[in-house]
Amino acid sequence: MSRSAPRKQPVTVNTEWLSDCSGCHVAIVDLHEKILTVLDAVQIQRCPVLTDIKDYPKATVGLVSGAIRNEHDRHAAEEMRKSCDLIIAWGSCAVHGGPAGAGNIHTREEIVDSVYMKNKTTTPHLPPSREVSPLEPAVTPLDSVIDVDLYLPGCPPHPAFIFDALLALVEGRTPKATKESVCAKCKRKMEKTDTDAIRGNLDGSPDPEQCFLSQGYLCMGSVTLDRCLSPCPLNGIPCTGCAGATMQILTEPNRDIRTEIADRMSRLTKIPRDAIVREIENSSKSLYSYTMATSMIGEKPTFLIKKWIGDAEADYE
Ligand code: SF4
Ligand code: SF4
Ligand code: SF4
Repeated sequence: MSRSAPRKQPVTVNTEWLSDCSGCHVAIVDLHEKILTVLDAVQIQRCPVLTDIKDYPKATVGLVSGAIRNEHDRHAAEEMRKSCDLIIAWGSCAVHGGPAGAGNIHTREEIVDSVYMKNKTTTPHLPPSREVSPLEPAVTPLDSVIDVDLYLPGCPPHPAFIFDALLALVEGRTPKATKESVCAKCKRKMEKTDTDAIRGNLDGSPDPEQCFLSQGYLCMGSVTLDRCLSPCPLNGIPCTGCAGATMQILTEPNRDIRTEIADRMSRLTKIPRDAIVREIENSSKSLYSYTMATSMIGEKPTFLIKKWIGDAEADYE
C-alpha cells in the first residue's frame, strides 16, 4: 500500500509595520483570491492588520514595511530580526526610507515645531506627549539597523510581485525580480519633437501615444525600477519614481536621476539640458523623496539636495 507524502510544514510569517503609511500592508488585500493559493502553505502569525499578536513568535519569514524614524521602529526591527530566519524589506519605505525620507531635509526640532507647535489647523499647540516614541535624528532605511536578506521596493510593490515573493518562499526558490525600468511596460513612443518648454503635470492634454519626455513632461520612468507594472504612464500620468531608482542609478557613482533624465529629454526635445537639470533640482523634494534617505543616493552628487531644496523654498517664500 502506498503511503501519502508527509505534509510539509507551513512557512511561518511575521509582518511588522514601522514608520509608513500602511499602504504596503493594505496591498496584501489586493492579492484578492490569489492569496488562497499560498494560504495553505503559509501560516501568518504576527501581522498588525490581520492578527492581534503583540509579541514576536519564531518565524521563517519576516516582512517589514516602513522606515526607521523613532525608537519604537528600531526596537521593532531588532525584534523582527531576532525572531525571523529571513527578513524582507518590503516597500520603498523599508528599502530606501520612502516619502518620509524627505523629512531628512529638516531637523527634528523643525519637524516637531511645524507639526505640533505651529500647525495652522489644530489648537491648542502642545508638544507631543511623553508616550510618543522620540524621533531619531534622521529617517533611515531598514538595513541601516538590521541585516536584510531580500529587498522588495515599490510604493507599494504591485500585488503580482508580493504574490511571487510569497510563492517563491513556499516553493523554496528565489523570487523573480525584473531589473527593467518602468519604461519597459509603458507603451508610449519616445520620439524626437520640437517641444521647447517644460510642461507642468496639469498643463494641456498630453498625447496618449507619445512618451511624456518627448512632450516636455518630466517622467521618471526611465530611471525607476519596475515594481508596479507601469500603471501611471499607462493611465496618462508621468511616473514620479515611487518604486525607487534602477540598479544602474543606485550602483554607478556617476549616474544620477537628474542628469540621466536631462540627457534623455534634451535629446528628444529642443529643451536645453541645463533648464531640465534646474527644474528637477527645484522639484527635488518630491522627485527624490522616495529615495532621499538611502546612503546610495546620498553619496552621489545629490548631496547638494539640501541646497537645491533650500534655494527652491527661498524662491517660493
Ligand atoms: S512604500 Fe509606499 S505604500 Fe508602502 S508604506 Fe511606504 S509610503 Fe506606504
Ligand atoms: S519616460 Fe515615461 S512616458 Fe516615456 S517611455 Fe518611459 S515611462 Fe513611458
Ligand atoms: S509613480 Fe512610477 S514607480 Fe510609482 S507606481 Fe507610478 S509608474 Fe510605478
